[in-house]
Amino acid sequence: MAVPLRQVASVGWYALRQHLARRRRYPLVLMLEPLFRCNLACAGCGKIDYPDEILNRRLSLAECLEAVDECPAPVVSIAGGEPLLHREMPQIAAAITARRRFVYLCTNALLLEKRLGDYRPGPYFTWSVHLDGDRGMHDRSVCRAGVYDRAVAAIAAAKGAGFRVNINCTLFDDAEPERVGRFLEQTAALGIDGITISPGYAYERAPDQAHFLKRQRVRDLFRAVLGRAGARRWPIAQSALYLDFLAGNQDYRCSPWGNPTRTVFGWQRPCYLLGEGYAPSFRALMEETDWDAYGTGRYEKCADCMVHSGYEATAVADSIRRPWAAARAALAGPRTHGPMAPDIPLDRQRPAEHVHDRLVAAAVARPAERR
Ligand code: SF4
Repeated sequence: MAVPLRQVASVGWYALRQHLARRRRYPLVLMLEPLFRCNLACAGCGKIDYPDEILNRRLSLAECLEAVDECPAPVVSIAGGEPLLHREMPQIAAAITARRRFVYLCTNALLLEKRLGDYRPGPYFTWSVHLDGDRGMHDRSVCRAGVYDRAVAAIAAAKGAGFRVNINCTLFDDAEPERVGRFLEQTAALGIDGITISPGYAYERAPDQAHFLKRQRVRDLFRAVLGRAGARRWPIAQSALYLDFLAGNQDYRCSPWGNPTRTVFGWQRPCYLLGEGYAPSFRALMEETDWDAYGTGRYEKCADCMVHSGYEATAVADSIRRPWAAARAALAGPRTHGPMAPDIPLDRQRPAEHVHDRLVAAAVARPAERR
């Protein structure tokens, strides 16, 4: 099963309780970024463009657990940067799983085989290995030859040691449906447990700005990929309605509060993808963010976003509101032909504000614990 039954039940029950309590905004996945430092410099990444002063900062074990205790999301995705560069990562992962939160430890896998012995397999722990396509696609995406082969070897080692292993795959403008489909078939054959697949977000700081997908291209691409024979057998670990959205059949607005993000700067506004400011606490993030100022059609930087971290929470909330639609999408798969849902018009979005340099300067001016 792409998502273990225990997790489906736990997350489903949590989301249902929020729905019954009529909570409009609630977190589903805490995105924990304990460091921005990475051992790769991918062309499509907007996370590592910081001065050394920031790249050397770490969230401590205590700060990570404080974030987990503040935010009730049942799932914690630990990203970065490269989390395996953090010396306290084994303790951080163990302490979070001990709280019965489902941990997805996202890694480019360069250090995975070396560090595997520091972790214990269990129902609350999954490796999420970055793999943006076949050997050629992935090595081009991460700007280094040989990374695909090391990631595949690490996946085999982790599976051999009894771990759950997912891959997370980001697609860019040069993705060819045929090739993506073949890659997903081969990846499923590796015996991995789940696949998370999403179009890339056009990070303004990413070195390569030319290859981010536009929304209509995303919808066409996902129709072509998900419409392939055998696609239903791929262990895709995302909700059926999110896939239906990617295939152009749902008119969703994003739910950035569904994936609140804690970084070395604080709680990031408004979302994992877009850093427009920072709140001092989870409560302040949820209560004081002007959520209506963000989202496709509202803000220029959101124009092409269809990323799971923004829209999966919308799909989950919709699955609870319309279980029959979720059941239909799960049973029949996403519709890959016929008319698409109208897309969001962009003629009233507010222009982008350029705040990055100011935020970095403010963060550098603040003292921080370093590890
Ligand atoms: S559309 Fe939503 S999830 Fe995407 S970048 Fe904008 S606020 Fe974040």
